[in-house]
Amino acid sequence: MSFNIAIDGPAGAGKSTIAKAAARALGFIYVDTGAMYRALALYVLTHPIDAGDEAAVARAMPGIDVTIAYADGAQQVLLNGENVTDRIRDEQVGNMASKISAYGPVREKLLGLQRSLAARNDVIMDGRDIGTHVLPEAPLKIYLTASVEARAQRRYKELTEKGVTASLEAVAQDIKARDHNDMTRTIAPLRQAEDAVYVDTSDMDIPQVIERIIELYHDRVPGCPSGPQNGGVDGCR
Ligand code: C5P
Repeated sequence: MSFNIAIDGPAGAGKSTIAKAAARALGFIYVDTGAMYRALALYVLTHPIDAGDEAAVARAMPGIDVTIAYADGAQQVLLNGENVTDRIRDEQVGNMASKISAYGPVREKLLGLQRSLAARNDVIMDGRDIGTHVLPEAPLKIYLTASVEARAQRRYKELTEKGVTASLEAVAQDIKARDHNDMTRTIAPLRQAEDAVYVDTSDMDIPQVIERIIELYHDRVPGCPSGPQNGGVDGCR
């Protein structure tokens, strides 16, 4: 049976960076479910579909194929056969993903794909509803978050390093709007699962958070004493 780790949390909490690195360290597959929603959002943005009309978005779903592949351990997202991994990263796509992910038929479309990946592989899956809805039986669930200020600072730094002109205030507003959308929608809203471990990364650096996740994994596996140094112990990673 596969071992699944669910990581949920708001936009900009560092989920993908952390999940990717922890998956590498543990030999798990990293599954970024946000990228799946982004692929559907890209489809809506590039077709004459009214994103405000749930029925119109729902009608488009059967014509869309989202597939996940791996190249050198990195997740690739294919949209109707085209690799869109690089095209789905901008803010416009993220905001559209946040909008259409509130629709039931959009979420239903991706649920089967997410569950089948987790059934077949040891995965670290990140998203908004993984611990609460997609993998409610996951033996390790983490709710990764940080203050709006810390998340906005990180995102602002990332954008300016990429040469994108941005204002810290606008980035913070964007994050707040996305939090609001994701936390208040009726279907599968973002919230901490009752049995999830709460990790606030506002004052932690990336290596500290990765270490914490690996430690929590070792705590869950019988015979693996806590701490990231247990890779050599039988049955531990
Ligand atoms: O994590 P990322 O920013 O790539 O996700 C984009 C959007 O997709 C989120 O703001 C959220 O609305 C949606 N999403 C979701 N459920 C998930 C993953 C992402 O609703 N499991």
